[in-house]
Amino acid sequence: MKTNNLGYPRIGSNRELKKASELYWAGKISAEELLETGKEIRLKNWKLQSETGVDLIPSNDFSFYDQVLDLTLALGAIPARYQELAKNNSPLDLYFAMARGSQKEGQDVVAMEMTKWFDTNYHYIVPEFTKNQKFELFSEKIITEFKEANELGIKTKPVLIGPVSYLLLGKEKEEGFHRIDLLDNLLPVYFEILEKLQTENAEYIQFDEPFLALNLTDSERGAFTKVYNEINKRFPKLKIILANYFDCFGENLETALALPVNTFHLDLVRCPLQLDDILESGKLAENVNLSLGVVDGRNIWKNDFKKSLELIKKATDALGESQILIAPSCSLIHSPCDLDLETNDETLTPEIKQWLAFAKQKINEIVLLKQFASNEIDIKNSVDYERNVIANENRKTSKLIHNNEVKARVAGIKASDDKRKSIFATRRKSQVEALKLPLFPTTTIGSFPQTAEVRSWRAKFKKGELTRKEYNDLIEKETEATIRFQEETGIDVLVHGEFERNDMVEYFGEQLDGFTFTKNGWVQSYGSRCVKPPVIYGDVSRPNPMTVKWSKYAQSLTQKWVKGMLTGPVTILQWSFVRNDQPRSETCTQIALAIRDEVVDLEKAGIKIIQIDEPAIREGLPLRKEEWAKYLDWAVRAFRISASGVNDETQIHTHMCYSEFNDIIQNIADMDADVITIECSRSQMELLDAFANFKYPNEIGPGVYDIHSPRVPSSAEMVRLLEKASDVIPVDQLWVNPDCGLKTRHWDETKKALIEMVAAAQKMREAI
Ligand code: GLN
Ligand code: ZN
Repeated sequence: MKTNNLGYPRIGSNRELKKASELYWAGKISAEELLETGKEIRLKNWKLQSETGVDLIPSNDFSFYDQVLDLTLALGAIPARYQELAKNNSPLDLYFAMARGSQKEGQDVVAMEMTKWFDTNYHYIVPEFTKNQKFELFSEKIITEFKEANELGIKTKPVLIGPVSYLLLGKEKEEGFHRIDLLDNLLPVYFEILEKLQTENAEYIQFDEPFLALNLTDSERGAFTKVYNEINKRFPKLKIILANYFDCFGENLETALALPVNTFHLDLVRCPLQLDDILESGKLAENVNLSLGVVDGRNIWKNDFKKSLELIKKATDALGESQILIAPSCSLIHSPCDLDLETNDETLTPEIKQWLAFAKQKINEIVLLKQFASNEIDIKNSVDYERNVIANENRKTSKLIHNNEVKARVAGIKASDDKRKSIFATRRKSQVEALKLPLFPTTTIGSFPQTAEVRSWRAKFKKGELTRKEYNDLIEKETEATIRFQEETGIDVLVHGEFERNDMVEYFGEQLDGFTFTKNGWVQSYGSRCVKPPVIYGDVSRPNPMTVKWSKYAQSLTQKWVKGMLTGPVTILQWSFVRNDQPRSETCTQIALAIRDEVVDLEKAGIKIIQIDEPAIREGLPLRKEEWAKYLDWAVRAFRISASGVNDETQIHTHMCYSEFNDIIQNIADMDADVITIECSRSQMELLDAFANFKYPNEIGPGVYDIHSPRVPSSAEMVRLLEKASDVIPVDQLWVNPDCGLKTRHWDETKKALIEMVAAAQKMREAI
């Protein structure tokens, strides 16, 4: 029996990679220094896994930005717009330009599109394909990292996204072909990489093919058959681990089991039943191994050893120990790094902490499970085992978790509680009258730059170097300056800037009961951006108003409307580590009631426009279509519960950070927000396809510029996008706004861009 890790967090236990990348981008450290930081993280991770006793240790799981972009570079799929840049820049700068866009010394290229990685909050850079896309081995990262570990005496298992999933992750950038048609062009480069790895004596190769958990067409399924047969034919000695995760193989199981690979990795957290299916199918070829993903790579709960050992036993009984590998359900990049760094007993109490495990603890769990399952250690004499059982038992009964009042309120929700008082048309009349906004009203999504200074205030306040009053005064000053800037720029609906917030979910989690949070539980979201999800461990309720004070203060400074700014229940759920002892829908409804109370309190405080952000509603979609309806039902209902406590006159906005909602547009409309702002600019208003077929009934603000890039767009560019939008959306339904919050941007570029944006709205008004 072996242990098999699929991927280890690469941000560094103290976010070393984030810090170094940002210093490098700011021109404050050299490329060598950044590369060195990367190397240190890799070496540390490999050593840790090796010392813990992991048998199959991944390499190429490290990335300076994103593993999909790494592969795009390795395969030389560099879009034409970067060719010029590629000539006079280092590969590293080319790489970052593809990730973030680049605007310097007269050159101006936009970034590649970014989108969510399956149903996680990790974002990858979307490969772009042309009809006759050529591939060539461009970067040898996969090989050099393997060699680097070899030098330490650690023989790793290179991890690559498999060819089929790689193509499916991408997008066709011209008509007349399907990206899967590119397989024949693509495969030779994979072969070249495998050839080199084989020369370096690689033994195992992990191919991640998470598309096997999705609904596939016959031709896509056929692609898997072709690829893995070819690989097997050319590289019969390489031991191929085919990793599927985030859901069952489903109807792809038969295709998958027929592939000539060494090992199938199964996500037994998301889909425990598939183990029976596979063992009973009789379709598993002889000598093929199973990697059992029993330790949850997506959540922070301690494994339940008893339960895992039962699953493992089923597999060993059927196949024998030597064919079994013990693994996390998926790569651990979705887990925080190290629970040992959580030393603040006041926030993360020992009672809660004993229920948790982060990446470092999870690899230890897989090692322990292997030792128990193979009888290297007798569970009867194991303190680790005993502790695990006790922790899991007392979690079930802990008084910290159960709040009867909350349960009763959820049970008492009436049908009318998820409906606004009137239909949109009626509400709209009241809102037009009350708000008196111009055509093409301009607004932003909520946050303004969280400068190093603003963050330093919070840090000082937390350390006790600033009193609450001093801290609040500073935040007030920043808020006021932001209100003044928005007034001067001529923005119509203002925001307070969210300076008091560390993060749009953590801020709320800190104020809600049933949540706790970590000091250092960071998880990569995209590039250098990390999030620190709160931990929902118990029934959720809102003891006190959470945002009223700041919204009220900001509104008191100006005659213009200031939008109240909340995070919606689905997003809070989705971006937290969620308890696994009750259905997600139940937890979501509890959060919805808490947000509803806040919305009502904001209205009472005189706030007329309230935005309830739901950027995560789409990523909560189950991977398989047949499960969508059930999820959308409870998710949309939760949003509506949160938004429906107010009068007609109060305008409810929502915001989503993506444009791909062709397939759920009816559900988005069912949320019945008065205004929705969405991402659009990176995909050049692709969302408009959705509107060609569907008459979105309420108002909409298609983001007119990309805030994920420091690039300043011109008003002409934005006018073009708005014109495109007004072809399919009536002009009196259109809003003008950036495509997301501005917290990651600098003031300089923010100011310039918003001035251009207001000018664009002005031009649109004049043209009517
Ligand atoms: N109101 C949030 C902000 O502006 C929304 C962020 C998001 O959609 N991710 O930061
Ligand atoms: Zn957003």
